[in-house]
Amino acid sequence: MAERENPRSAVLGGCTDQGSQKFDDRISNLGNRRKDTRKFLHWLQHQDVSNRPDIKLVQSKIAGCANWLVFNNYYTVDQIRLAAAHSCDKHLLCSFCAARRGSKYVQRYTERLAVLLKQKSTLKAVMLTLTTVNGDDLEERFHHFMGSLKKLLMKRRDAVRGKSATELEKAVAGVYSVEVTNKGKGWHVHLHAVLLLDDWIDRVELSKEWQAITRDGSKILDVRQLAKGADALDKHGEVSPKLVEAFAEVFKYALKFSDLDHSDRLHAWETMRGKRLVGSWGDFRGVKVPDGVTDDLLPDLPYIRMLYRFSGKAYD
Ligand SMILES: [Zn+2]
Repeated sequence: MAERENPRSAVLGGCTDQGSQKFDDRISNLGNRRKDTRKFLHWLQHQDVSNRPDIKLVQSKIAGCANWLVFNNYYTVDQIRLAAAHSCDKHLLCSFCAARRGSKYVQRYTERLAVLLKQKSTLKAVMLTLTTVNGDDLEERFHHFMGSLKKLLMKRRDAVRGKSATELEKAVAGVYSVEVTNKGKGWHVHLHAVLLLDDWIDRVELSKEWQAITRDGSKILDVRQLAKGADALDKHGEVSPKLVEAFAEVFKYALKFSDLDHSDRLHAWETMRGKRLVGSWGDFRGVKVPDGVTDDLLPDLPYIRMLYRFSGKAYD
């Protein structure tokens, strides 16, 4: 079983580093991701996948992922950015790619959030959690959850057009990711979302709507207030750390299965690969998250190149 992560880790693996200590933390964090993936690969090597060309292909891609990293050290502005790396982009199985992808999502949605809050300072931010009951069959539970989610989002769309009514129409923007865990009591499919509201959502009413849709006694629905209006930005106009952490919470799991043991991780990948696990609506639509694992670079600034190689335990 992989270690459970601190939500700030996704931010730590992020794009901008100032100061050598933060960079040391980042290198160590990325090394731990690579190490986690190596453990999974080690386990996979001992499974019989001789008649599974799809698994063998993904195995070889992951094995070659992030064995070296090239950073640009922009010494005049004290920033170090990941400029090149060979990556597998199998983020559901590879912890390194998941961390980089997660931090990009956090960065891009935080930027959009800052713009929206500056345009309309009365918006309120909440974290929504939707769950369904656990079950032994992941495929069945996953399709049930995704079908229920689709119905809820359709209801919101109809409400915006005046054809229906739902608590969720108070959310002018929403971004969510679907997560799956299995802690010995069956597969647990759920969702975390950050919403921007005109008016606070009535949790009890939304729970009733969700129960009516899921029809399986899925009672757990949580709406956690994050910030309202001006509290969402700090005195420099930057999004408050609490909100950045909320995005980290949303994006840290959906993009990988680090909480799952190795056989569950493989099974979840087989069931959920190619499915859209992240979605958005309203003013969060259209946020572009670039592919690949590298950072945005700083053109026209001088830099020193730094090469790191994975030794098997860490980058050095
Ligand atoms: Zn990878």
